Amino acid sequence: MTDKTDKLLSKECLTPYSISRSLNGEPTGGQDNPYSNAVTQYEKAVSHLTIKRGVMEMLKYPKRELSVAFPVKMDDGTIRTYRGYRVHHSTAMGPTKGGIRYAPDVNLDEVRALAMLMSWKCALMNLPYGGAKGGVRIDPKALSHGELERLTRRYASEISVLMGPEKDIPAPDMGTNAQVMAWIMDTYSMHQGFSVRAVVTGKPVLVGGSLGRTEATGRGVVVTAREALKRAGIDPKGATAVVQGFGKVGSVAARLSRELLGMKVVAASSSRGGVLKESGLDVEGLELHYQESGACADFGDADNVTNEELLTLDCDVLIVAAKENQIRGDNAGDIKAKIIAEGANGPVTPAADDALIDRGITVIPDILCNAGGVTVSYLEWVQDLQSFAWPLERINDHLENMMVEAFHSVMTCCDARKLNNRVAALALAVERIAEAIMIRGIYP
Ligand code: NAD
Repeated sequence: MTDKTDKLLSKECLTPYSISRSLNGEPTGGQDNPYSNAVTQYEKAVSHLTIKRGVMEMLKYPKRELSVAFPVKMDDGTIRTYRGYRVHHSTAMGPTKGGIRYAPDVNLDEVRALAMLMSWKCALMNLPYGGAKGGVRIDPKALSHGELERLTRRYASEISVLMGPEKDIPAPDMGTNAQVMAWIMDTYSMHQGFSVRAVVTGKPVLVGGSLGRTEATGRGVVVTAREALKRAGIDPKGATAVVQGFGKVGSVAARLSRELLGMKVVAASSSRGGVLKESGLDVEGLELHYQESGACADFGDADNVTNEELLTLDCDVLIVAAKENQIRGDNAGDIKAKIIAEGANGPVTPAADDALIDRGITVIPDILCNAGGVTVSYLEWVQDLQSFAWPLERINDHLENMMVEAFHSVMTCCDARKLNNRVAALALAVERIAEAIMIRGIYP
């Protein structure tokens, strides 16, 4: 393709919609729009690269998007209609991979942003996948077990045109878990007429899940935090951690930062507020309290803190493991942590990024920090395809090696090209995908 046709394409064909505007009219809101934030981050990274303009334009947009409205029979006999999505960002590196989120405020722009991040994350980790994400606008806690199963099975049927072990492989995200994955696997298998274990990852071990998958994201967060502490000259033993979001990622990261590194977890929060104990929280006790009450607040002799206060506590590592847009231009100036570990996807907005860099705060970017989940998902998929299960030690060793290698490749890129962590991670990932596109060629 010549530069002339490249320019023509970008001008006339490749702006199918405005990035800051939602296709389906859902509220998206300026700098809090996760998709425009993801594109802003991407554009910052590509400004340091010499990839072809047409390829750069192509990667701004998801390859395909499916929006579904589907009925669910409720326990009281009524029928309710729910909205769900599945978005594939890029298939240049292989079949698409990405979680499914159940949350009341899920919207298409959020799913687009998360699908894009999955492309970068998989490429950064050298996994043979493109990026995808799915979501359903639902508060899963408001449904009975039976309603959740019917909703999941119907959603899985609706998106099954896109799914498949060689096409698109979902996994858990916020609001979904191993049980939800088992229902999706079973629904897909019923349509095929035989069991297809490799169609989702993050399943229960008995039906093809991998040992170590439940802990993988949190474990990866702790590995990258350890490496970042070492690089900053801080001894992980006795270093302090604050955890925002005590869910699947945050609770494991809290426990393992103590168990593996000897760190002191001084505060943790969930959506209903947090708790603080300067001498260190009893993390296992907090896990039980969270399981029983669904919240961190009112735990033992710890003090309650608001979610806003928790983010501004003085600590070595702030693990943000809740959701996007938590550290923004308006609160970045109050952050006192030395290192921010992005367990969540997109927790720091582009405006906050700049403010944090100016203040010398290290950010371990999401596509690196929380990549442990998709890495062990990949190992689960490989085990399913081979019908051969690996021992936990092998999984954890693989994860450790892959996370450390990715961390140091990002740091090498930072040092060599004088880039910040996020830009370096994105640059490495985007470069790989752009190169794959050029090698494969543009069809026809
Ligand atoms: P989860 O639903 O298990 O946990 C989310 C937690 O965040 C809950 O404790 C919730 O109460 C809390 N929370 C929500 N809003 C909050 C707020 N404003 N302040 C404090 N806490 C708040 O979800 P999860 O699977 O742990 O995912 C968390 C984040 O990690 C998401 O951004 C997700 O995309 C990302 N992530 C998850 C995985 C995975 O394997 N589960 C992998 C990679 C990235």
